Amino acid sequence: MAGEAYALQTANNSSCNSKKAKENKKKKKKRGGTKKKMTAEQSLALKCVREWVFLDQSSSSLTASSCVVDDFGAQKTLGRGGEKLVFELHSHSKFSDGFLSPSKLVERAHGNGVKVLALTDHDTMSGVTEALDAARRFGMKIIPGVEISTIFSPRGDSESEEPVHILAYYSSCGPASFDELENFLANIRDGRFLRAKNMVEKLNKLKLPIKWEQVSRIAGKGVAPGRLHVARAMVEGGHVENLKQAFSRYLFDGGPAYSTGSEPLVEEAVKLICNTGGVAVLAHPWALKNPVAIVRRLKEAGLHGMEVYRSDGKLSVFSDLADSFGLLKIGGSDYHGRGGHGESELGSVSLPVLAQHDFLKVARPIWYGAIRTIIENFVHEPSDTKLAIIARFARTPFLKGGSSLSGCKDIIDRCLALWLTNDEIHCAEFEAIRLKLSHISFSSNDSSFL
Ligand SMILES: [Zn+2]
Ligand SMILES: [Zn+2]
Repeated sequence: MAGEAYALQTANNSSCNSKKAKENKKKKKKRGGTKKKMTAEQSLALKCVREWVFLDQSSSSLTASSCVVDDFGAQKTLGRGGEKLVFELHSHSKFSDGFLSPSKLVERAHGNGVKVLALTDHDTMSGVTEALDAARRFGMKIIPGVEISTIFSPRGDSESEEPVHILAYYSSCGPASFDELENFLANIRDGRFLRAKNMVEKLNKLKLPIKWEQVSRIAGKGVAPGRLHVARAMVEGGHVENLKQAFSRYLFDGGPAYSTGSEPLVEEAVKLICNTGGVAVLAHPWALKNPVAIVRRLKEAGLHGMEVYRSDGKLSVFSDLADSFGLLKIGGSDYHGRGGHGESELGSVSLPVLAQHDFLKVARPIWYGAIRTIIENFVHEPSDTKLAIIARFARTPFLKGGSSLSGCKDIIDRCLALWLTNDEIHCAEFEAIRLKLSHISFSSNDSSFL
């Protein structure tokens, strides 16, 4: 699998180099030659996954070997019927501690053949709209996500507390209760400022003259600084040779310059994700001291899945753990764009089609429920603010350029067509909602809310 990642990487970096291109051809041939035929179960799963991936594209995209022309004039093959689609479910941009802007991240993912990208910045969803804009140019799908920083606190024993990261995946319409999630995340971000300040103070006491201004400059405007930003300031100041050393000597969990922030309890975060229409997944369980105790506690709180796939393959210990608790098994590269040798490339995790299908089988009813809640809320008490929330992640072209919003039904219909299947849109629940919507848009010509 690592070899595949390498082949993928070189395939993207070598278009101008004919020697390398020839080598890649050989590799591709070799990879193609060992391809196994899909089982009936896999073919069926792939059909369902493709239906969802190409929901917001023309129906012709679903036919074999169909082509689209992207904004750069390049003709892209959307894939033959049996071709697997690459999912990247864990990535970071400049909006947290990644090095690339969301647009650059999407561009890189596209170059690596990724079809579905979840942007999962730490404690913020601010990069999602930029990622969505960029993804539309490449015919890619974005899952709005976030990686929430939390603390696991063993009952009655605060000594062995440990940080836990929880990934949340939302529908294309975003969280069912955006404000509730945003307040929760804002609290964590405020805590991160305090935590980074504490770390700088501790380093100063250890006679490492790191300046707060330097850390916040590295983090960038409006970005809550994290450990990585402190580590980069240490490298910049020449206090350590590299990021790894900054962590291994000073910033590791419980290290001499380590500090906790005001992270919520991990079960609180999982419950919040469930209540706001998201899919909750435990990130990198291999980094935990108490994975079994944590998974047990989180399963009770409503956890849906855990990461078990990495670019070096499936970790059988965690796969077994997920199976014994009936949890989804997914994974992503956790790409930050640091550029180090040890970093997994974006799109390098080979998530089997059955795992993609299982993920969507759990996620889609949850996302359907969230979309329904959001639109029902609008119907119950229509306002332009609520309409803006619905359209926030839709960012459909017709909403740009100050077009008239007088027909909210048209706007919502267009959004629904992007997010749901025909069957879902035309089920009784949504037909009732759409009927109410047509009354709103009818009366909205005279009303002031639009
Ligand atoms: Zn993490
Ligand atoms: Zn991460």
